[in-house]
Amino acid sequence: MDAFTPALDLLLSDGLLIESGVNGLYGRSGVFEDVLQRVEALTRTVAAQDGAMVMRFPPGMSRAAFERSGYIKNFPHLAGVVRCFCGDEPAHRALMRSCDAGEDWGAELASTDVVLAPAACYPVYPALAQRGVVPDQGWLVDVAGYCFRHEPSREVTRMQWFRMQEFVRVGTEAQVLAFRQEWMARAGALAQVLGLPHELEVANDPFFGRAGKLQADGQREKALKFELVIPVNPGAPPTACGSFNYHGEHFGRTWGLQLADGSTAHTCCVGFGLERLTVALFRQHGSWPGHWPDELRGALWSLPC
Ligand SMILES: [Zn+2]
Repeated sequence: MDAFTPALDLLLSDGLLIESGVNGLYGRSGVFEDVLQRVEALTRTVAAQDGAMVMRFPPGMSRAAFERSGYIKNFPHLAGVVRCFCGDEPAHRALMRSCDAGEDWGAELASTDVVLAPAACYPVYPALAQRGVVPDQGWLVDVAGYCFRHEPSREVTRMQWFRMQEFVRVGTEAQVLAFRQEWMARAGALAQVLGLPHELEVANDPFFGRAGKLQADGQREKALKFELVIPVNPGAPPTACGSFNYHGEHFGRTWGLQLADGSTAHTCCVGFGLERLTVALFRQHGSWPGHWPDELRGALWSLPC
């Protein structure tokens, strides 16, 4: 048993999560889902005054857009792609022989144009690029959905498939940095409402390989990424439940997002891990929402979901 097993076991034995036989891939009970949707509604209530444009995408995205975004260069170990059977009948017989023999039948499949979305915001940048020049007030998008990262684990907050609620800001450097700053303050207030102990920390993304270590160090040095961390697993470092990411001109350059003066737009995204926040609530307040503090119940159960 590792340090993370007790937290997962508790959520499974209390019926909040449902075992699938694969680490990091769980079903959710009605109670879990109800709380998650209320957490999502709460984050969107905090954002309501901003007038964000809502976009929703399927949990898959264009492989071409994914390649262009640089994800496969920076995070190949986390990527998931959709491969399908496109062969003829002899190829099908070969596939079934491998399958019946309990062998890996992946070789009989071919890549498709679809990959699994690694973050909710990835399909937003190419979608915005189709709209032409960024307006003076910039763009603000509310996007949410299931994301996939291949990191099987018994750590309950490190799921392979999970949902993120993100707010993406595109505009001048000053506009996007002010937006990120505002959300770092809002996120603290949000955690307060949820009755969750929390801190804001400088962080880095899990870039792949030796070159990735340099990228991660650079990201920290320039304070490009902050995380809202909340204790979930006793004795282990706190879990990142929110992130505040300044991309500089990376996505602007990649997708040709231009400001009216011809310069490249800056972007940032603010993301909340909905399963992580929900798990943190159950860990902090117990498995029975009916017993949670009145103030917390008042905040979550007064929302229209
Ligand atoms: Zn993002």
